[in-house]
Amino acid sequence: MSTETSVVGAVIIGAGHAGITAAALLRQRGFDDPVTIVGDGEHLPYHRPPLSKSYLSGPDGALDPLRPSEFYRSERINLIRGQQVSMIDPDRKVVRLDRGTTLEYSSLILATGARPRTLTIAGSSLRGVTSLHNYEDSLALRDLLGAGPGTKVAIVGAGYVGLEVAAAGIEHGVDITVVERADRALGRVASLDLSTWLSGYHRDRGTRLLTSADLLEFLPGEDGEVSALCLADGTVIDCDGALVGVGVLPCDGLARAAGIHCDSTGVVVDADARTSAPAVYAIGDVTSRPVPPYPGRFRLESIPSATEQAGRAVAAILGLDAPKPEVPWFWSDQFDAKIKIAGLLVDATAAVVRGNPADDRFAVFHLADDDTVRAVETVNSAPEFMAGKRWIAEGVRIDRRRIEPPQKKGAVSLSRSESSPCPPSPPLIISGRRRAPTWESRGKSRYHRHVSTSSPRSPKTTSGFTSTRTEQRTGPSAPRSPTDFSRCPCSRLF
Ligand SMILES: Cc1cc2nc3c(=O)[nH]c(=O)nc-3n(C[C@H](O)[C@H](O)[C@H](O)COP(=O)(O)OP(=O)(O)OC[C@H]3O[C@@H](n4cnc5c(N)ncnc54)[C@H](O)[C@@H]3O)c2cc1C
Repeated sequence: MSTETSVVGAVIIGAGHAGITAAALLRQRGFDDPVTIVGDGEHLPYHRPPLSKSYLSGPDGALDPLRPSEFYRSERINLIRGQQVSMIDPDRKVVRLDRGTTLEYSSLILATGARPRTLTIAGSSLRGVTSLHNYEDSLALRDLLGAGPGTKVAIVGAGYVGLEVAAAGIEHGVDITVVERADRALGRVASLDLSTWLSGYHRDRGTRLLTSADLLEFLPGEDGEVSALCLADGTVIDCDGALVGVGVLPCDGLARAAGIHCDSTGVVVDADARTSAPAVYAIGDVTSRPVPPYPGRFRLESIPSATEQAGRAVAAILGLDAPKPEVPWFWSDQFDAKIKIAGLLVDATAAVVRGNPADDRFAVFHLADDDTVRAVETVNSAPEFMAGKRWIAEGVRIDRRRIEPPQKKGAVSLSRSESSPCPPSPPLIISGRRRAPTWESRGKSRYHRHVSTSSPRSPKTTSGFTSTRTEQRTGPSAPRSPTDFSRCPCSRLF
């Protein structure tokens, strides 16, 4: 029997980072009507990034709530846990819950996130083949990795989640094999520079990383649990458990069923998180969103993006000025490496590396034709991250010579000033095609690389790495007014 509960106020579907942030901001910015969040999890809403990091290697693995339970009481936020919204009716402005309750809304925020992509190959549903999305998944992995030396774990997919789990496993003394179908790790989301360094960094620490590896099936053991992976070339990888980390899919079924416009990457929203339905907003991993000034739409699977969109949706609901657009960014922790990335690589045409990857401390600045910074990938380089992020936000043109690394014995840079003691190396020109290197980007760009020199092979890595490089690629660029870079406060960093 249906229980009618009339609640006119804001209803938020999904109690993840995006949904909880939106609820908190509604209250902070003076929204006084009822706020209801419906989440299908039983726990107090919690942080997801630690699931693949500190939960796996930290001492207790205790859940890290986004807010204490007291917060929901004091802010008069009605948090409905363990229930799913099963239907949205945008014409009547109501949502229905799976247990029959109907909620009216004045504004609706869809924050349903994304779910792990699963495989359909033979053996995919064997016990011991898991994915990592929630606390229970993380606890199960923690038990598996915690078994320590002698345990074998196979990871399908060399994306951020797979590599973070690999790092945690190695730290537990577990035998880790990562199987990646593409020809490099992080092929979808990182530059060749970062992915080459990270592959070497992992291999040096014991991760067995197989690229261009075509997984055929999971094989069962006598107990019916997964016992091995079989690759197309006949390689068999024994394992006590397997993690599938091959990306996520947006939870956009509700929106689609309600006739809300979606594209292949999620619920289509504008810059203020508005969907095609009146008074319905969407935020976080479920959205296909514009990210000015980059061309196209993107699904950004990241906490900063969810936070930013929550702020924009709340401003739109309250009729406030939209907050300033934020530069998208992302982080990952693996072993002792703090990896931070700002911006998107979609329309960059050149790259300059500052620092030495062999030291596990460097930054790759990606520039457009007009010398504006479009993205920066950093490893253990907080100042470069901050500077790069700020340059992206300000759209300033920069002088590449300021980014290039300080003179190092043996290091040669392409664009030296005339007074440089190092002669430029003859450029090596490589042309090729780069896959859209964003979290879910669509664009592709042709590029030409002008590689100045290669660093001496790092003694710690198993593959070579270009340490100082200027790439030049062709592609559209929106010229900006030149800025006197020397007056930018960030220039002090260099
Ligand atoms: C293991 C892991 C590690 C990560 N590490 C990082 C990191 O280091 N840095 C970073 O920036 N990002 C990281 N992320 C990504 C980040 O966690 C997400 O971008 C962020 O959580 C997105 O928030 P969200 O609220 O959009 O989605 P979610 O956190 O997925 O929350 C959506 C919630 O809605 C619920 N829901 C869905 N449908 C319904 C329904 N019909 N009714 C009720 N509830 C529903 C879902 O079950 C879920 O609980 C990581 C993610 C994972 C899984």
